Amino acid sequence: MSIFIKYYPKFYKRKNFIDNLLKIKEAGFDGVFFPSVIPEGLSATGSNRIEFFPVSRMVELAKGLGLKTGVILRWFHSSKLWSVDTFSPPVSFSGASYNPDSWYHPVCPNNPSGLEYCDKLLRKMSKITQPDYFYLVFFRFPFFWEKEELDVQNRIPPFCYCPFCVAEFSSVVGEIINSTSKIIEMMPEWLEWRTLTIMNLLIDAKEVLARKSRVIVSLPPLSLIDLPFTTGQLPLAFTDEGCLVSPLLHHISRRKNLLWVEDILDQYRIDVKTNKMFPSFEVSNKKEFEKILELGNHFAGIIFSHWETFNNLGTG
Ligand SMILES: [Zn+2]
Repeated sequence: MSIFIKYYPKFYKRKNFIDNLLKIKEAGFDGVFFPSVIPEGLSATGSNRIEFFPVSRMVELAKGLGLKTGVILRWFHSSKLWSVDTFSPPVSFSGASYNPDSWYHPVCPNNPSGLEYCDKLLRKMSKITQPDYFYLVFFRFPFFWEKEELDVQNRIPPFCYCPFCVAEFSSVVGEIINSTSKIIEMMPEWLEWRTLTIMNLLIDAKEVLARKSRVIVSLPPLSLIDLPFTTGQLPLAFTDEGCLVSPLLHHISRRKNLLWVEDILDQYRIDVKTNKMFPSFEVSNKKEFEKILELGNHFAGIIFSHWETFNNLGTG
């Protein structure tokens, strides 16, 4: 099993990047995952355009040092898209627009500006030096799992009911849907259509990304039953399609302990082959790191989030 770490550089400077890669290697990691896009608010020009890191160069440098590589592709979350005049936010079942009160700026998977951005991302990635993995994050309908609890009693997914979703659904079922009560009547079809939307996007993305690389899809830490309902993600269909799945077992963000991590992993192991899994972990000290390495056996790989905190860990 290979062990990876996510590394989010604030900028790209060759020497600084290489120094960190050397430290990552020295810390015992087999590979490194880094983002394709410069973090928002830190871009060189401060413009509204999406700015990319020199991804090919970064992949080549890491490979040159004997590290495996993964490029993190952020899908349906972007405060830059939110700042564009023509952008429209996701809409809740009650008709309210999403109101971001924190860092999460979700984009509906049916939003035309979001889809345009994804096309651009794919075109760009088709031209780079291919990494071992592409890691798809926020590849789902909106759900702020870091802050929100899932209401398992609610039989209606919280998002999204924007005009683009309703129009898409209407065209798929061949019937004009003009009220939420109609959506409730057709809830099984609505849920199925949502999962197909995500699945079709994944198949399109895979066609571009999976020539030399494997595709990993990150999943919020929900049970396998709750994921399709909440996010439109169908993890078992993803693995059937040849992709790997990466449950985000981030117990620190979720204010839980390692028992919570073990519990979710046990649930996954019942249905998903361990060699199709690439779980993601957080650690607060070196002792936890050792424990997680024990838990992580037999997976396709495991990945830690992230280098900047790992580099400053105490021994606990
Ligand atoms: Zn929508």
